[in-house]
Amino acid sequence: MLNRQGRPSSAGEAGTTAHPTFTGNKALAQVEPLLFEIGRYDTTGVDLDEPEDFKPRLGGLGRKEPIGLPGLSEPETMRHYVRLSQQNYGIDTGLFPLGSCTMKHNARLNERMARLAGFSDVHPLQPVSTVQGALELMNELGRYLITLTNMTAVALSPKAGAHGELCGMMAIKAAIEAKGEDATRNVVLVPDSAHGTNPATAALIGFKVKPVPARDDGWVHVEDVKERLGPDVAAIMLTNPNTCGLFEPQVAEIAKAIHDAGAYFYCDGANFNAIVGKAKPGDLGVDAMHINLHKTFSTPHGGGGPGSGPVVLSARLAPFAPVPFVRAGQDGFELVEQESDAAEKPFGRMTAFHGQMGMYVRALSYMLSHGSDGMKQASEDAVLNANYIRAGLADLMSLPFGNKPCMHEVLFDDAWLKDTGVTTLDVAKAMIDEGYHPMTMYFPLVVHGAMLIEPTESESKASLDLFIAMLRDLAMAAKNGDKERFIGAPYHAPRRRLDETRAARNPVLKWTPPAPVAEAAE
Ligand SMILES: *Cc1c(COP(=O)(O)O)cnc(C)c1O
Repeated sequence: MLNRQGRPSSAGEAGTTAHPTFTGNKALAQVEPLLFEIGRYDTTGVDLDEPEDFKPRLGGLGRKEPIGLPGLSEPETMRHYVRLSQQNYGIDTGLFPLGSCTMKHNARLNERMARLAGFSDVHPLQPVSTVQGALELMNELGRYLITLTNMTAVALSPKAGAHGELCGMMAIKAAIEAKGEDATRNVVLVPDSAHGTNPATAALIGFKVKPVPARDDGWVHVEDVKERLGPDVAAIMLTNPNTCGLFEPQVAEIAKAIHDAGAYFYCDGANFNAIVGKAKPGDLGVDAMHINLHKTFSTPHGGGGPGSGPVVLSARLAPFAPVPFVRAGQDGFELVEQESDAAEKPFGRMTAFHGQMGMYVRALSYMLSHGSDGMKQASEDAVLNANYIRAGLADLMSLPFGNKPCMHEVLFDDAWLKDTGVTTLDVAKAMIDEGYHPMTMYFPLVVHGAMLIEPTESESKASLDLFIAMLRDLAMAAKNGDKERFIGAPYHAPRRRLDETRAARNPVLKWTPPAPVAEAAE
C-alpha cells in the first residue's frame, strides 16, 4: 500500500493498525512530512522582486545551480511548524515521568525574565561597563548557589551536568597536582549505580575508574569504600540522592573516610532538587558538586533548551576554580578573564565565554519567585509526589529495595512482569498509547528492567491519581495475560516501534531525494 507521500507503508509508519487510513493521519493527529518532501523550489511566503541584471563580484565562484531550499506559502509554513510542535510531548502537555532527569515545571515568569532585552540581547564581548546588570545577576545566582549548598566558591560557566563533572574533577586534579601527588593518585571510585557520565568524566582526564558495588538495599556502604581506599585514590564520585532515588545514609561517614585517605569527594548533584532547602552538601563533606540548573532550578531542557551545570567548590578546591568569574571591584562588577588576574590558581577555563546567560536568568527568577521557603516546599512536594506514586503502585509493581520511602523518584524493577511475556520496554510503549511519555527505562543498571519514575513537584493530586490508575490498569492487563496490548504497542502513535539500535548505529543524517516511483519499481 502506498500512502500519501507515495511511500509504501511499513511497520514504522502510521496507518498499519487495524484500520489503516489513506492519508496516514489518525483521527485529528496529522502526520507531517519533511519540509524537503513538501516544499517547492518556486514558492515562497514573501514577495520578492526579481533582481535586476547584475554582475556577480565573486570572481567566478558564484552559484551555478539553484540553492535547492524548499519553499512553502505562509499558511503551509504555519501548518508545518504547528504540526511539528504538536508532535512534541513535554511538561506543558502532560505529566512527564522521566526519572534522573527532572523535567521541572518551568514557570512562564522565568521565560518572561529571560527574554528581557537587557539579558537576551547582551553580547559576551561587550564592554563590562555596559553589562553591569547581567554581571550582577550572575554574581547573585552564584551567591544563592553557594548559600543553598554551604560551599565556598562556584564556577558558573560549565554548560551541562557532565561538563560540570569535568570542571569539578579538573579542580580536584589541579589540587592533587599542587600537592605533588599526581604521579600516585590516579584512581577514582565510582559506585555501580552512577550515571554513565561519572566514569566517563574520570576516564576522560586520565583517571582509572574503580567500581564500588551498591548493596541490596540500594545504598553505598562505607566499608565497601574503605576497602578500596589507599594512597592511589584521588576521589570518589558519589550521587546523592542516588540514582535509585534513595538518600545515602552513610554519606557523612563516606566523606570522612575519603578525606582521611587524602582524597576528594565529588558529589553528582543532578538530584539536588530532592533536598534543596533541606540538606546542604557542604555540611555532608562534599568538595565539588555540579548543579544541573536545568533540572533543579526549573530551566527547561530535553529539546526545550540548553543546559547549565555550575559547580560549587569547598574551601579546599576554591583556589582552583576556573576563569572566567565575576568579581565585585572598585567600579562595579568585573569579569576575571585571565588566569594571571586571579588571586588564586585557576586550573584554566571551560568555555569560550561565560556560560548560559538565559539559564542563569531563569534559575535566579525561579529562586527569587519561590524564596527559601518556596524552594524547600518544592523539594518536599517532589518527594511527596514520588512517594504517593510508590504507595499507589507498590502492591502491583515491584520495588527492588523494599517498600521504603524514596526521595524525588521511585524505582521499580521488572520482577512483577515475570512470566507475563511483557518487558519494561513493552510497558513503556503501552504508556505511549495511553498518552504518557514513558518513564526512564533500564537505568540505573543495578536493577533488572528498571523503571525510574519522577513526577514533578507541580503535579496535582488528580493528575497523579490518573497516572497511577493508568499504570495499575496496564499492570493488571499484563498480569491477566493481555500480551497483545503491549507487544505491538504503541498502536495509536503516528510512528510505531522504531529500530532504535539501527538508528543509533547507522544514523542517516542527510535527506536525499527519493528515486522517482517508476524507476524504483524496476
Ligand atoms: C542528568 C544527569 C547527569 C548529566 O547531566 P547533563 O546535564 O545531562 O550533562 C549526571 N548525573 C546524573 C545523576 C544525572 O541525572
